[in-house]
Formats: sequence, C-alpha cells, structure tokens
Amino acid sequence: MTNERKHLPQSPTLTTNKQKMATPTPTNPRIIALFDVDGTLTLPRGEVEPSMMAFMKSLSEKITVGIVGGSDLPKQEEQLGNGIVKVFPYNFSQNGLVAYKDGELLEIQTISKHLGEENVKRLVNWVMKYLADVDIPVKRGTFFEFRSGMFNISPVGRNCSREERNDYEKFDLEHKIRETMVEAMKKEFADLNLTYSIGGQISFDVFPVGWDKTYSLKFLKEGDFDEIHFFGDKTFKGGNDYEIFMSERTIGHTVTSPEDTKEQCTKIFLS
Ligand SMILES: [Mg+2]
Repeated sequence: MTNERKHLPQSPTLTTNKQKMATPTPTNPRIIALFDVDGTLTLPRGEVEPSMMAFMKSLSEKITVGIVGGSDLPKQEEQLGNGIVKVFPYNFSQNGLVAYKDGELLEIQTISKHLGEENVKRLVNWVMKYLADVDIPVKRGTFFEFRSGMFNISPVGRNCSREERNDYEKFDLEHKIRETMVEAMKKEFADLNLTYSIGGQISFDVFPVGWDKTYSLKFLKEGDFDEIHFFGDKTFKGGNDYEIFMSERTIGHTVTSPEDTKEQCTKIFLS
C-alpha cells in the first residue's frame, strides 16, 4: 500500500461493494421463516442438495427467508455454498453472533467484546488455578479453549486419546468433576450472567445467557413482521433449537429432515 493511498479517506467498502440480492422482494415480505442448517436444510454435517436450495430460492419469492446456524460462517458456507450471505435476506451464523442483512454485515459479537478483557482474564486465571487442584487419574493438554462465542473447558484436556476420553467420561460421571466445577463457577462468576452446558464426554461450554439462537431475533425489528416462523430439528429441551422454538416471538416447527422441511413449508406457505 502506498502512502498516498493510506491518506485517502477510508471508503465504506461494505456499502460501495453492495451487490444486488439474488432474490427479488417476496410477495409476502411480512412473513419470515428462519431455518436451522444441520438436519433441517442439510443432512447432519452434510452439504445442501441442489434441489433443496432450489426449493428455498422459490420459497424466498413468496416470503422472507433467513438462515440461523449454530456453526461459524466458513462451516455454513461449506454446507450451503460460498456467498450464502447474499442468497437470502437474513443470514445468521454462530446463532446470530455474526449477522448479515441483505448481504451486508450488521454485527460481529464476541465473548471478549461482551465481557471485557478484565473479566476474561479473571475467568481464565480462575479456571487454570481450579484445574491445577483437580485430582483426576490422567491430565493431558488443551484444558481451556477460547472460541469467539464461548469458552470450552475440559478437566482432562481436549487432546486426550479416544480411550482416555472414554475413561474420563466414566470417572466424571462417578465423581461429578464437571458438575462440581460448574457449581463453583456459577458462584464465582455470578456477576457475569453466564450459562453452562455440559455436553459431550470431556468438556463443558460457558457462554453469556441468551447466546442461543434467540440472539438472532434481536435483528428482526418488532413491527417489521406479522409472523416469524422457525424450522429446526433439535427443538427438544437441551437441543440447540429449543429456545428459539419456544420463544414467544416465533411460531416453531419441528422437522425431521430436509425433505420434511420442504413438505411442511409447501403446506404452510405455498398452497
Ligand atoms: Mg439442527
């Protein structure tokens, strides 16, 4: 970059590069349907079928369509195609921590921005001290993983072998290592309004209250829509679609596969 260029006023690239959305204004723009990705538009961890994508595009001629995925945007692009943020009017990845409207980035939220570095440091330091004193048969590495939307904490360490992982799970069930640690953190960090989720075999996640898929609803202004539909496969309690499915603002639909999503949408919106 030359000096001259450096001194030019910063151009708002996001607006100047704005491209026309691929889809026209729908016939009923005040009805919006939001879709989970995994198990709803694609098979779990799979890529979307071209026929499913074609169906979604035709649906978006009738109503407003949005995507609400739990994964990050690169993973969502792997599943739904590059440039997916420009295909439908609303695109949310990481439950809406990364939000696009009409192909333009609205916001990127992160846990460090939200909590502030002092609090992040306080939490990291506390966790390291706590884990140092935990007595378990085996300790490996990567006890604390910092992700943009959460902390992932593992007393045995994430880079344990499969066998060590299985052994740890048994030990944890018996000695309630994670449960006890979560209780201690709830007390210690009561001021931070965090939520704790023990999932999988060896770790638990820590993230701010409300950072489930309902986070994305804050980008849909009250009054802009008459109906907000949500379609997801994990709408049971403890599933990652549960909160948005139950939200007072949405009409929730449980689906079992992309085929089922297509069938339900056809009945509700296209007939
Ligand atoms: Mg799903």
